[in-house]
Amino acid sequence: MAAHDGNGWVECRCGQRHWGLHGAAGLLLLRDGAGDPTDGGAGTDVLLQLRAGWTHEGGSWGLPGGARDSHEDVVTAALREAWEEAAVPADAVAVIGSRLGVDHVDWRYTYVLAKAPADVAVAPRTEESDELRWVGLDDVTALPLHPAFARAWPGLRDELG
Ligand SMILES: [Zn+2]
Repeated sequence: MAAHDGNGWVECRCGQRHWGLHGAAGLLLLRDGAGDPTDGGAGTDVLLQLRAGWTHEGGSWGLPGGARDSHEDVVTAALREAWEEAAVPADAVAVIGSRLGVDHVDWRYTYVLAKAPADVAVAPRTEESDELRWVGLDDVTALPLHPAFARAWPGLRDELG
């Protein structure tokens, strides 16, 4: 086993390059929101990350996540990346499911769904992340989203109820 041995580009049969030699995973982390009193109060929030301007699709909002290492399952990979990027404490979140977001055979992206306590502390830990924000489920589409996440979000939103 080697840490970060999944880092690298895949030349995919779809004609694009994707990051993650063994695929990639993102953490869709939910919490019960404190609520915005101006829009009816508490709801469920999702943790979004603003990708730094110099990164691929920089300036867009997406999920913490990244390449899966060879020895990891997708849950382990998503939780590790969320710790590395956003200081999400893996032992404080409860994984509630996963959903295959992209399957190009040569490369896959999996969304790992998890629930955090309302008072969980997060903070950007890498220069790839400009900001972290808890966003109400109905407010996600108001942000400029990473294109792949924008495509996946309606299906994920439906699943969340
Ligand atoms: Zn592809």
